Amino acid sequence: MKERSLELINKDEVRVRYAPSPTGRLHVGGVRTALFNYLFAKKFQGKFILRIEDTDQDRSSKENESEIFEALNWMGLIWDEGPIINSNQYTGDYGPYRQSKRGNIYKKYIEKLLLSGAAYYCFCSKEDILTERQYQIGRGEAPKYNKICEGISKEESSRRQNSGEKSVIRLRVPIKKIIFNDLIRGNIEVNSNTIGDIVIAKDINAPLYNLAVVIDDFEMRITHVIRGEDHITNTSKQIIIGEALNLPIPSFAHLPLVLGTDKSKLSKRHGDVSAIDYQKKGYLPEAMLNFLALLGWNPGTEKEIYSLLSLIDDFSIDKIQKAGAIFNIKKLENFNSYYIRQKNIRDLTQDCIPYLIKSGLIVKDNNQFKSIDSGESIDINFIERAIAAYQERLKILSEISDFIDFFFKDKIEFDREFLLWKDMTQLELKQSLDTVYDLLSNIKNEDWNRDNISKILLVKAEEMKNRGVLLWPLRVALTGKKASAGPFEVAEILGKKKTLKRIKDAKYDL
Ligand code: GLU
Repeated sequence: MKERSLELINKDEVRVRYAPSPTGRLHVGGVRTALFNYLFAKKFQGKFILRIEDTDQDRSSKENESEIFEALNWMGLIWDEGPIINSNQYTGDYGPYRQSKRGNIYKKYIEKLLLSGAAYYCFCSKEDILTERQYQIGRGEAPKYNKICEGISKEESSRRQNSGEKSVIRLRVPIKKIIFNDLIRGNIEVNSNTIGDIVIAKDINAPLYNLAVVIDDFEMRITHVIRGEDHITNTSKQIIIGEALNLPIPSFAHLPLVLGTDKSKLSKRHGDVSAIDYQKKGYLPEAMLNFLALLGWNPGTEKEIYSLLSLIDDFSIDKIQKAGAIFNIKKLENFNSYYIRQKNIRDLTQDCIPYLIKSGLIVKDNNQFKSIDSGESIDINFIERAIAAYQERLKILSEISDFIDFFFKDKIEFDREFLLWKDMTQLELKQSLDTVYDLLSNIKNEDWNRDNISKILLVKAEEMKNRGVLLWPLRVALTGKKASAGPFEVAEILGKKKTLKRIKDAKYDL
C-alpha cells in the first residue's frame, strides 16, 4: 500500500477536500470540518476543494446546497478549484465539484472492477439478506454477506440481468488486516473479515457513497482526508476499495465529534445546530470561526483570540484532540461580544440595521431611514449613536432591537411602577421628574451633551444625597426599561426636545 503521510508534504502539493452531502441542513460540525481542511491546506500552501456529494438525488436539495455555499462564504472559507461558473452564489472564482455530474467517471471504474472479477453482481433480495443477518446475529457472529452470488459466472449474471432480475454490485473483499495511520488517533486496525463483500454500486451507473468517494479522492489527487470521526468505519471500506482499484491511499485524520453539554452528539435537542441559523441570529463570522477553531483543536498556549490568518499560522493537526469537543454556547457568545466590541461603529451599525428593519422599528425608503412608529426621518448618525450606547453589552446582533427600540418610538409604553425608585411615593416621583425637567429645560440647545447633562443632574443628586431618587425615574421615563444605558448618554442621543417630552409623558397622571 502506497501511503501518503505528513512526511511527504514537502514533496507533494497538499490537496484536501470538504465533501458535504446536501441531504440536511449544514451542521456547525460540518463547518468545523471545512475550517480544519481549509487551515491544513493553507498551512502547506495547498489546495482546498469543495465537493458536493449529491449522488443521493432523492435526499439532496438545492436549499441545503445553498446553505453550504452561504456558510463557507460567510466564514471566508473560499475553495481553490472547481468548474468555472458565473454565479453570484460563489464568492471565489469557482463552482464546486458535484458528484451528480461525474457519473461517467465512476462508470469506468465500476466496469474495470467487474471486468477483472474484483466485483460481481449479487442477486440476493433484501429479504434474503435480512434473514441471513438474523441467523448470523443469532449465532453470535458479526453480520456480513454470505457470498452466495460470488460464484455466479459472467454469462449467467448477464442472462439474469437481461431477464430483469434485480441486482447490486459487490466488491470481493480479501481477508486481511487493514491498518491505517490516523493522523489524530494513531494506528487503526480492522479485520476485513468483519466487513464482508460490500455493495459498491446499485448498478453500473449508480455508485454508492464509499466507491464514489474513493474514485473522487483519487481523481482529485486528494492527499489528506480530514473528516468527522463518524466516518472511521467507512475508512477501512474505502481503503479496501482503493486497493482493489490499485490506487494510492491518502492519509486520514478523523476529527473528534462535536458534543452537546451533556456529552452526547450535538443535535437539535441541544439548540441550534445549523450554521446559518447562527448567522441569522447575529453571530459574527469572526466569532464563529474563532469558536469553531477551538472546538477540538488546542494551540497549547494561552492564546484564545484567532483570526483566519493567525489560525493558518498556528494550526497544526497534531494539536487536534481525540476526545469529543463540547459545544459551549456561552463561549461562542463571549467570542461574539468580544468581536462586537472590536468593531468600528459604522460597520456594527450596518450589521445591526437589518435586525432593526426586521423587527419593524425602522424602514429604508429612498436611501433614507424612517421610524415606523412616528414616520419621521432618522439620520444614520442617530442610529449609530444609539447602537454605540449598547456596543459594550451586545452579545448577539439580533438583541439590538430590544435594547434600542425606545429610540425609534414616538411614545414609549411601560409599566408605570418601573418609574418608582425603591419605596418612593407618587408625590416623590412627581417631585423628582419636575426637578429633572426644570434642570434640563435650562440647558441651552448648543450645550446639550452628556457632560453638561451629568454635571447639572449630579450636583442636584449630591444635594439630595440620593442619586437613585433623581436618576432612576429619569432613566425609566426615557427608556421605559429597568435596565438600559445610562440616562445622560440616552438623553444626549434623544436630544433636548424628545427628552423633555418623555419626562412630560411620564408625569401625565401625577
Ligand atoms: N459526504 C459525507 C458527509 O457529508 C462526507 C464524506 C467524506 O468526507 O468523505 O458526511
